[in-house]
Amino acid sequence: MTEIRIRNFINGQFVEPLSAQYLDNIEPATGEPYSQVADSDEHDVDAAVAAAEEAFGEWSRVAANERAKLLLRIADLIDRDLEKLARAESIDTGKPITLSRTLDIPRAAANFRFFATAILHVQNEAHVTDNLALNYTLRQPRGIAGLISPWNLPLYLLSWKIAPALACANTIVAKPSELTPMTAFMLCELAHEAGLPPGVLNVVQGTGPRVGAAITAHPKINTISFTGGTVTGRKVAEAGAALFKKISLELGGKNPTIVFADADLNAALSGSVRASFANQGQVCLCGSRLYVERAIYDEFVHGFIDKASKLKQGDPLDESTEQGAIVSKTQLEKIRFYVDLAQREGGNIALGGAAPEPPNARCRDGFFFQPTVITGLPPSCRTNSEEIFGPVVSIMPFESEEEVVSYANDCEYGLSSSIWTQNLNRAHRIAEQIHAGTVWINCWLLRDLRVPFGGMKQSGVGREGGEEALRFFTEAKNVCIAK
Ligand code: NAP
Repeated sequence: MTEIRIRNFINGQFVEPLSAQYLDNIEPATGEPYSQVADSDEHDVDAAVAAAEEAFGEWSRVAANERAKLLLRIADLIDRDLEKLARAESIDTGKPITLSRTLDIPRAAANFRFFATAILHVQNEAHVTDNLALNYTLRQPRGIAGLISPWNLPLYLLSWKIAPALACANTIVAKPSELTPMTAFMLCELAHEAGLPPGVLNVVQGTGPRVGAAITAHPKINTISFTGGTVTGRKVAEAGAALFKKISLELGGKNPTIVFADADLNAALSGSVRASFANQGQVCLCGSRLYVERAIYDEFVHGFIDKASKLKQGDPLDESTEQGAIVSKTQLEKIRFYVDLAQREGGNIALGGAAPEPPNARCRDGFFFQPTVITGLPPSCRTNSEEIFGPVVSIMPFESEEEVVSYANDCEYGLSSSIWTQNLNRAHRIAEQIHAGTVWINCWLLRDLRVPFGGMKQSGVGREGGEEALRFFTEAKNVCIAK
């Protein structure tokens, strides 16, 4: 399989990286290389920018309904290739194929459909200034957008950026994570087949420090949409700020799940197990700090461990697998480090804490870790403050609303939170007080593409989704006509 070569997509063609260098692309479930990915550098980014610049003139004049048709065609092609894409993503990321098939890939198609149709409903504002003037707002494409995405939901998150950028008539230079390049590569084939003009979408594969940094620093890329870790986000912000770029940063999280004694216990257990372990805990929105009201703490922990211990770990390509592989050896080592740290900080490993037996011979060198539950940690220790990004959750009791709100907010991150209670007044009261961009009540990961999405504090700057994305990828210009 290593003869598969994931090349760059520049000016409508798949091309070798200029250096002719490739990196091994490792399958997390086996620990073995299964393809090669272009190890591009700033020269490839220059070539992609030149193509994007050349294409911009014509693309920016394509009528919105023609752009919409192209995006809808891409969505249809994603649907057509659902099975192929789901399998590729599962191999690339280590996530269970059922998750790719039912969530990630359909959501990528939904992103294209959403922005294809949204762009047809944009309203322009007009303001009459007494009897002096009429002002109207023109929203114009910004030019070349640099889109950088992480490995955990590779096609979904990249399409969440590509679709609005194209809908708003920008051209694109994108970089997926070097760990999970396959679905972006396949998307380029589909975009080409759909008839997207050459140069409108360019994808440069390779590492963050070489390709990502070159995109961020490129003077002709004036818009950067970045999703990834907070440390990398800071570098992107610093480089972009020096050139006054418009930047959206979707960063890490350490999300609290809060369960009150009056919650529907079964729903709270199922919801919080899912929130803790979906995609092996490698979703930025996963709940990794779980606060349970004292009155039901023992019963809840017992039920939680029971449910989590029944999650079926296995080969990601196996239809019955619920927990697949961790994305890389480095990520696995990071998880191990935090589980050791939790013990040094006084935590008790109530479930998991180690690698499982390999599920089959194919996966004997894969990167697996058990769903892990830690109890007994103080709320403010490192394990409860730093993002682990793995199947590790810390459960703690609380006594009062006031106390749990202070625990939830005592954190540098502010991405999301979920609250389980039957008391509607309390739900509203707490939602208002939690420092997070999204607060779910009695649910988790329920997404409406129209709502603003993003984080507070170190979880990010800016909002994506719906109207916010359309505004981000356009420049507002006021035209003032004197009466
Ligand atoms: P990461 O290491 O920050 O990487 C994100 C992207 O940035 C990758 O494509 C990476 O390339 C690239 N990159 C690395 N160094 C760069 C640099 N100096 N300049 C520009 N780009 C650079 O994050 P990750 O480990 O892939 O993803 C996990 C993180 O993403 C977690 O913190 C998670 O919470 C966060 N995340 C946030 C959201 C959200 O919506 N808020 C959603 C998903 C994930 P390479 O991978 O090729 O090095």
